[in-house]
Amino acid sequence: MVDLKSQYEKIKPEIDNAISEVVNSTAFINGAAVKEFQTSLENYLNVKHVIPCANGTDALQISMMALGLKPGDEVIAPSFTFIATAEVIALLGLTPVLVDVDPETFNISPNSIVKAITPKTKAIVPVHLFGQTADMDAIMGIAKKNNLFVIEDACQSIGSEYLQADGNWRKSGTMADVGCTSFFPSKNLGCFGDGGAIFTNNDALAAKIRVIVNHGMTVRYYHDEVGVNSRLDSIQAAVLKVKLKYLDSYTQARQQLANAYNSAFAAHPEIIIPIKSNKSTHVFHQYTLQVKGGKRNHLQDYLASKQIPAMIYYPVPIHLQKAYLNPRYKQGDFPVTEQLINTVISLPMHTEMDDVQLAYITSSVLRFFEKK
Ligand SMILES: *Cc1c(COP(=O)(O)O)cnc(C)c1O
Repeated sequence: MVDLKSQYEKIKPEIDNAISEVVNSTAFINGAAVKEFQTSLENYLNVKHVIPCANGTDALQISMMALGLKPGDEVIAPSFTFIATAEVIALLGLTPVLVDVDPETFNISPNSIVKAITPKTKAIVPVHLFGQTADMDAIMGIAKKNNLFVIEDACQSIGSEYLQADGNWRKSGTMADVGCTSFFPSKNLGCFGDGGAIFTNNDALAAKIRVIVNHGMTVRYYHDEVGVNSRLDSIQAAVLKVKLKYLDSYTQARQQLANAYNSAFAAHPEIIIPIKSNKSTHVFHQYTLQVKGGKRNHLQDYLASKQIPAMIYYPVPIHLQKAYLNPRYKQGDFPVTEQLINTVISLPMHTEMDDVQLAYITSSVLRFFEKK
């Protein structure tokens, strides 16, 4: 699905140098590289505060802690997402309230959010799934009207841009109270282990988040809040600082690959290519097709027999996951999500694909549909 080895080889001297600088300094935790990367990312995103942390899941959890969400508070999230989004809500004793997604962008549906709001609702977590930004103007409007916090899950969308109603383009993760991202190796900006970050333009919230990520410590060994231990280590920060310089070129490579896939599949009657939101750029964390006629699993098996990996993100929606079963929900509650789990398939998507690989993948997909 990804080719991290070839990507590394192209920038190996720079990366190796950055890593050995950290090793030589022995400042493995909170070294200079962490602050440098933080500043570079603040500039890239045009956001006031970036707070690095250990991973994207922590970023979400810490955001909810910093916003003061309390057990029993309801948090609205999409039913079609990676589990981490709902997991941290449940772990904090908050109540996940799931809603359906938009059939075109796969992102949380603003109309469904409105219907799910109750007096207990405190926050909304839009997930910018597969690399497109959810409809932030609509979501922020709903939040403002109902006095709710918004936490953007931008783990799959770093670099994606959204056209706000005021005519300004804003980077995903920077439009709400707080935004979260992940630097897991296969994410669009990936490090060589685990990593994550929290974004906010709110000074007071940033200060609180910095305390929470560091054991709730204000002055050394004085703990004013219950915190966690969640750090981005210096080696990961050094790697990320190098890779951030290439992020836009990586995004372009992904978009070019998506265009090539689109041209191969657009006319096919049994395939629906990714539908672009008219308000967001797409950074193609995943390139996800919908397959008609109940043939999706057969296509996946066929591609596997041709040594082509293709993945189902996600085969089970949150409301039907064993750990999250809840009398509140039943099968059929989220028709769009429940249709998508049976039709979506993601093809290999990364920055290093060559023309031979591309031709092999597209012709294999098309040949599958010719077989009767
Ligand atoms: C990857 C991901 C996360 C979690 O990130 P980790 O760094 O793996 O903890 C959360 N939400 C979404 C949508 C993701 O894709």
